[in-house]
Amino acid sequence: MQPTPAAQVYVSRRKQIRPDRPLLSVIVPVYNEEDVIRHFLEATRPVLEETGFPFEYVFIDDGSRDATADILTEELANGLPGRLLGLSRNFGKEAALSAGLEAAKGGIAVIIDADLQDPPELIHQMIDGWRAGYDVVYGLRVDRTSDTLIKRSTAGMFYQVFNKLSNIDMPANAGDFRLIDRTVIDALLRLPERNRFMKGLFAWVGFPSMAVPYERPQRKAGTGKFNYWKLWNFALDGIAGFTTMPLRIWFYGGALVSLIAFTYALYLTLRVLIFGIDVPGYTSLMVAVLFFSGVQLLSIGMIGEYISRLFNETKQRPVYLLQDVIEGGPAKDGKPDAN
Ligand code: UDP
Ligand code: MG
Repeated sequence: MQPTPAAQVYVSRRKQIRPDRPLLSVIVPVYNEEDVIRHFLEATRPVLEETGFPFEYVFIDDGSRDATADILTEELANGLPGRLLGLSRNFGKEAALSAGLEAAKGGIAVIIDADLQDPPELIHQMIDGWRAGYDVVYGLRVDRTSDTLIKRSTAGMFYQVFNKLSNIDMPANAGDFRLIDRTVIDALLRLPERNRFMKGLFAWVGFPSMAVPYERPQRKAGTGKFNYWKLWNFALDGIAGFTTMPLRIWFYGGALVSLIAFTYALYLTLRVLIFGIDVPGYTSLMVAVLFFSGVQLLSIGMIGEYISRLFNETKQRPVYLLQDVIEGGPAKDGKPDAN
């Protein structure tokens, strides 16, 4: 996405107030990543040291049932800077990210997956964007050939439907991989909802944003955690959480169907009045009954989607529960001459 001239003016203002060497928090949700987590540390540490910023890792163990937390605890005990938040069970990536944002102390934060599908080298470009005054610098997947054809086309459809229905502009093919400024973190933390559809929340809070294009590689090791059923529910969460447009469309759809039904009823009544009683009519009766029961069940289902979300929000349960926090070393100063 090319910055518009208006955005240019705005970001040059933001540029003035950038601190020289902010603390960089690296937020990493992990769920059963024992196969890849050491690779992740090996790949990210040199990049973070090169930035010249002090940095800390914020790992969120989303209820892993393997050795992920043990490996990280060991690394933290050996002085890896940052901390590990252990959630009490698997709450899902969105909840884990919220936990990470709350625990991050940095003036800027990078959100990154543990499986190295988000290339760490991009952090340099993201920092350049932030320096130039952008508060959000997000990774944009230009090549999704590592995803299956079905996943790519359904994802494309989702972005189209979402952007048409909601009046917020969510960039297609942007994942959670991004650098955000403290102002954005604070804005995200102010959003009280339980349905943490992060991509939507990122888009909703706004702020000057810039894209950094990249090719998404395959997972380095381990297995993906999202199947199609999860993704479908994820998409429903996104749409029902950000727009009531489906309810409105259904309202007009309902009005149209009633109008047609009413006209037909009028026609039938007049026909009986003029030509007398006409007994055959089983087919039209059945068609009408089935059609209207279908329409009604569908609309009840749609209303149900919204009611179930109301139910979840009104319970006011916390988004996640912490089991423990394991502290590592102090924020490491990445400046070569400071060590
Ligand atoms: N993840 C998580 N909780 C979950 C599922 C995934 O914290 O319930 C983490 C996972 O460990 C990884 C990131 O979210 O660091 C992305 O997961 P994955 O690679 O499976 O997703 P995909 O690349 O398919 O979007
Ligand atoms: Mg992945």
